[in-house]
Amino acid sequence: MPISESMVQDIVQEVMAKMQIADAPTGKHGVFKEMNDAIEAAKKAELIVKKMSMDQREKIITCIRKKIKENAEVMARMGVDETGMGNVGDKILKHHLVADKTPGTEDITTTAWSGDRGLTLIEMGPFGVIGAITPCTNPSETVLCNTIGMLAGGNTVVFNPHPAAIKTSIFAINLVNEASLEAGGPDNIAVTVEKPTLETSNIMMKHKDIPLIAATGGPGVVTAVLSSGKRGIGAGAGNPPAVVDETADIRKAAQDIVNGCTFDNNLPCIAEKEVVAVSSVVDELMHYMLTENDCYLASKEEQDKLTEVVLAGGKLNRKCVGRDAKTLLSMIGVNAPANTRCIIFEGPKEHPLITTELMMPILGVVRARDFDDAVEQAVWLEHGNRHSAHIHSKNIDNITKYAKAIDTAILVKNGPSYSALGFGGEGYCTFTIASRTGEGLTSASTFTKRRRCVMSDSLCIR
Ligand code: NAD
Repeated sequence: MPISESMVQDIVQEVMAKMQIADAPTGKHGVFKEMNDAIEAAKKAELIVKKMSMDQREKIITCIRKKIKENAEVMARMGVDETGMGNVGDKILKHHLVADKTPGTEDITTTAWSGDRGLTLIEMGPFGVIGAITPCTNPSETVLCNTIGMLAGGNTVVFNPHPAAIKTSIFAINLVNEASLEAGGPDNIAVTVEKPTLETSNIMMKHKDIPLIAATGGPGVVTAVLSSGKRGIGAGAGNPPAVVDETADIRKAAQDIVNGCTFDNNLPCIAEKEVVAVSSVVDELMHYMLTENDCYLASKEEQDKLTEVVLAGGKLNRKCVGRDAKTLLSMIGVNAPANTRCIIFEGPKEHPLITTELMMPILGVVRARDFDDAVEQAVWLEHGNRHSAHIHSKNIDNITKYAKAIDTAILVKNGPSYSALGFGGEGYCTFTIASRTGEGLTSASTFTKRRRCVMSDSLCIR
């Protein structure tokens, strides 16, 4: 029998009463001063979620999707204002993508065997309260996408967001709790602290009520989570190369690569970060980038100046991350046309602007002798992250060779990188791509544990 909203309210009341919720820590729709209080509240919410039907979880998710769409522009603007990174138009699209294409409870499926000796099921059960660490590059997108997937799996979630994006992350956390309350669910399905720090992150990682931690960010956070002694889902850094061979539609490749590279000012971890092209097509490719895709060709002197500013003292300058091409050029005294989308240049793979994951629209093009050389250079540039790679080719043997050699969670063929997120491509969306630990593109089922449920010698009715 499907559970009604009034029944859920009764469950909420019953559990609240049993737990003397009046003594519970309070936080406005999921936001607490202390990490321990946040975790306690998420645990209480989880006990309520546990008793809900899948249908009720889905009702909350439907309400979250609606609210994301209503607030997409607000969150996009807030993200850009707070972090200074990315652009509002693309961030609006990213929020709609999360709302439309993040899987919900339909992702929770059952495997069954039935026969003379009975019925055995593998059910996907919740972990409980999941800890999640989120980046500043897609702050609200990751909070919303993680919450939908984790809740669909029957969990609640404690976030330790990037401090540089806390306001935007809190807005998203408030939003999911408001959606839950509106749909008859509990408050605190997602929680956080007012001031996330490494200390609050450590409290979360060590807490007895957190059995699973999902880390979305650079190498430091993934290593920290994988060293925590808990099960970890590691969605780490990338440096995706786009390979172009002589069989590609070069004009289209130029357009796809620039579109992917410039999306949200190159912030997505999957975005094209450099190009490796076989020698015979390099000139044509760059010609189309320049003449049809609003790219700016940086001279040797300008490359050097960009390196000095972007990698000041050998370290990635955060003030340049997620900035648009015109702003980056203005930082080195170049007044580029207003429609400039991407800065391009040809250079060796060791060039610091090519080998580093910059997360800004600067795209180096590396020349390869032949296809095998292109694959070798691309694998080197991906740094063993096993994250994302792209190729423009009509030769399936070449595509297969590259796919095997680079061994990434994502490989887009003949399209812009964002088609891997279901944007102009098939498949679902996520902003947590578990490159390090191998789950790949996470979804609700990633946040569940497999439980075998056996009925011996009965319930086979064949
Ligand atoms: P970041 O690594 O600086 O921060 C990510 C999160 O980890 C933040 O919340 C930060 O506070 C926290 N953190 C960092 N070091 C930590 C430590 N030692 N212990 C605990 N927490 C720690 O990354 P960012 O600048 O916010 O995001 C960009 C990076 O994230 C890029 O490398 C990008 O490729 C990667 N990323 C990966 C994915 C993916 O799905 N694989 C998605 C988005 C971003």
